Amino acid sequence: MRLLTEQKKGLLATNFYNLETLHGVLRAARELDQPLILQLTSNSIEYMGLNTAVNSAKTGLKDYGVEGWLHLDHGGSVELAQACLDAGFDSVMIDGSELPFDENIKITKEVVKRASAYNANVEAELGYVAKLGQAHTQMGFTRVAEAETFVEETGVDALAIAIGTAHGFYKEEPKLQFDLLADIHSRIKSILVLHGSSGVPAAQLQQAISLGICKINLATEIKNIFMKTLQSILKQSEEIDLRKVFPKATNSVTQLVKEKLLIVQNN
Ligand SMILES: [Zn+2]
Repeated sequence: MRLLTEQKKGLLATNFYNLETLHGVLRAARELDQPLILQLTSNSIEYMGLNTAVNSAKTGLKDYGVEGWLHLDHGGSVELAQACLDAGFDSVMIDGSELPFDENIKITKEVVKRASAYNANVEAELGYVAKLGQAHTQMGFTRVAEAETFVEETGVDALAIAIGTAHGFYKEEPKLQFDLLADIHSRIKSILVLHGSSGVPAAQLQQAISLGICKINLATEIKNIFMKTLQSILKQSEEIDLRKVFPKATNSVTQLVKEKLLIVQNN
């Protein structure tokens, strides 16, 4: 993550779910010669198998010649973060955002302590970024004073903040709280992370980057375009050779991520 503070521009973090989506995102980064963070959630780790997922990601970065690293997205426990550090992740997120403030500090501090032995970075979350299926509410924006205390006490490298985004797709266009973002950015040292960027208009993403967001997470749109493309192919075709069907869905992921990379780099 040192790369992030140095370049002072946005870096895209894309989730992957299988080999096809991994290749899709890596090809986009290679074609535009851009760095990329690869992310796995606990569900994806369970789906792919921890070591298979780690080895695929690391080999993929090398084969595609992409500068990047592997990150745990929304780690829910110290044990999972530890398992990922042992397996070779370069950075981990510990998400204590739904815990009381003091417990979020405690769990984050513990992961920061463990990660330092691996020279790995840690991301935490403060505030309420609605998860899939949760209500979108204005009540949970990150508070500046809390963010300051949180970063000071935990020594966390990156902080996901709640400034008006949510996970999944939006029913109405989101309105990011830019004043709040600027305020947080002026008061804390850690890297700022924006979750829930799927469906956020390009201009708002770019403004968020210009005001201090360094890491932009993209997940929902990747899953969506991959599955929508597959569904439309399968409706029209009885092809059983998956090697002829999947590449079209992989290409759709590449196109999407290229568009996002252009938005993020054109700042
Ligand atoms: Zn997230």
